[in-house]
Amino acid sequence: MRVLVVEDEASLREALKTELTAAGYSVDLAADGEEGLYAALEYPIDVAIVDLGLPKLSGLEVIRRLRARGKTYGVLILTARDRWQDKVEGLSAGADDYVAKPFHFAEVQARLSALLRRSGGWASARLACGPVELDTRAQTVSVNGAPVELTSFEYRILEHLMLRAGEVISKTDLTERLYEQDFDRDSNVVEVLVGRLRRKLDPDDSLKPIETLRGRGYRLSLPRRPA
Ligand code: CA
Repeated sequence: MRVLVVEDEASLREALKTELTAAGYSVDLAADGEEGLYAALEYPIDVAIVDLGLPKLSGLEVIRRLRARGKTYGVLILTARDRWQDKVEGLSAGADDYVAKPFHFAEVQARLSALLRRSGGWASARLACGPVELDTRAQTVSVNGAPVELTSFEYRILEHLMLRAGEVISKTDLTERLYEQDFDRDSNVVEVLVGRLRRKLDPDDSLKPIETLRGRGYRLSLPRRPA
């Protein structure tokens, strides 16, 4: 999952990057509102963390403008603890949730996961499609109850496909969600990872969890069910 962090305080921005990267996200950073808005509009962001007090363009204005341009991904705002007005204004501008500073990283992560699940139409942290179960908190995967060991890239691809189960996801979309903007992108990597995922989830080729749609991308085709 690709997360945009718009925060002008360098130490906090870097700390979020470290924690989010360790939690398996691809992270884009912006240090002011203008940079943030550019990234919010141009990159394939899955979820954004936006501080309200930003130089050049306020966090509220960043959120208003990205919503006005049709971006529907989840936005989590960072607010001062004693400013209830910030929360109201942020939510009215189009944010989905807030965390008050100072915060524990676990809270940010829990709220981000919830936003990602909701935008994919899931109600709980455990996603289940047919016999495949994925726990977005523990980042574990099982098939028919048996744990499956995945690398972090394999996990990211499967999580993205499961969050959007039933939808066609293009190879470009998956590639962009694996890497940050300055990484050398090679869509063959996605083909290799999907191939490995198929073998790990479905060693005897009976389940066929991931469909290839020629020229269009991939789809997790097993039916969603309550976990
Ligand atoms: Ca600030």
